[in-house]
Amino acid sequence: MDKTIAIIGAGPAGSMLAAKLASDANKVCLFDPKAPWEKPCGGMLGSDTIDAHPELKNYPYPINQCHEMVYISPRNDRTKVPAQTAIPIISRLELSCYLLDMAKNSSAAFIPKKVLNISQDQSRWVIETEDSAYIADLIVGADGANSMVRKATIGNFPEQHLSLTCGYILTGVPEDQYITKFLDIPGYIWVFSRANHTSTGIGATLGTVSGKDLFKKLHDFLSENYPGFRITKKYSALIAAVADERFFDQPCSGDNWLLVGEAAGHVDPVTGEGIHYAFGSAKAAAQAIGADDIHSYEDLWRDQYGDRLKQGAAAKQNLLIMGQDFGPEIIGAMMYFRAVRNFTDAR
Ligand SMILES: Cc1cc2nc3c(=O)[nH]c(=O)nc-3n(C[C@H](O)[C@H](O)[C@H](O)COP(=O)(O)OP(=O)(O)OC[C@H]3O[C@@H](n4cnc5c(N)ncnc54)[C@H](O)[C@@H]3O)c2cc1C
Repeated sequence: MDKTIAIIGAGPAGSMLAAKLASDANKVCLFDPKAPWEKPCGGMLGSDTIDAHPELKNYPYPINQCHEMVYISPRNDRTKVPAQTAIPIISRLELSCYLLDMAKNSSAAFIPKKVLNISQDQSRWVIETEDSAYIADLIVGADGANSMVRKATIGNFPEQHLSLTCGYILTGVPEDQYITKFLDIPGYIWVFSRANHTSTGIGATLGTVSGKDLFKKLHDFLSENYPGFRITKKYSALIAAVADERFFDQPCSGDNWLLVGEAAGHVDPVTGEGIHYAFGSAKAAAQAIGADDIHSYEDLWRDQYGDRLKQGAAAKQNLLIMGQDFGPEIIGAMMYFRAVRNFTDAR
């Protein structure tokens, strides 16, 4: 393919796609002002993610292995659920370094700049950073929940399909903490141990709980359970969390554009886990672009995991409806029940 491909965003989706396309001799420009960076994230992979992606087999950084998850109900009942297969937890900074190096080593041109504007000039894209303009035949939105490529193509995520997350990177917490705490909100708190620190956060459907209240709930939980904790970094971020299965009938591609990973909404609607889908969508996109048949991307990602996303979106919608009908307490109780039931076989 003798075309220039601009990929906006060097997260798991963008970097994996850049590596795949550049190693097949495509001209690839990968834009990101932050990468490599510690993106707000729990860092929990699916137990099969490393096996499913041979590119990760030689991952050189530490991986914590969760063998048992502790679920805490809204009434503080604790259930320990052993994992059938250990669940890897990684640092996002280290994953970011690894994937970006992979893209650069495959000859993708990395441009460490924020894309400020994109526009179309006939069939080509003009990509503007603060000091330069670039021309591309194909643009890929790998730019996460606030995707500007999504905005310019099929439109922003509606508010009901987003969650607000707030959290911390911590030290001073005992090792081997793999905790999910459910509350009276459409979301949950997590505490995941990593090699040198702990990742913790709280999320809820956008518009249901303010950021201030989310931080308070998280702080109260941490103070009660880990009195010695120290905050090294604080964040808040949006996350795609689709609450209507019809969302996934929308296209994620056009004649000269594609959305991958979180920009496409490919994130588990209930748990918020999206790294696995980011890799899956990147590979589906690489296959479609490699075959010079962009529209085949639609079937490729849907065949791989479309049904799972739809089931998750329907479950999320049901949780929100139950919350409206019976009060927010029921949401935490149902999420606790669902998590305990699903943990071993869903991973
Ligand atoms: C708090 C939180 C906790 C999470 N926990 C987990 C978890 O434990 N497990 C899991 O699997 N998933 C988790 N997720 C979801 C996961 O982080 C995402 O689904 C995943 O990172 C998506 O990968 P991506 O490459 O599509 O996008 P991202 O990782 O979001 O990467 C997008 C990239 O685009 C760049 N970008 C954005 N705008 C521009 C621009 N204008 N110009 C250039 N670059 C731009 C950003 O800098 C960023 O590097 C969590 C998300 C959040 C917010």
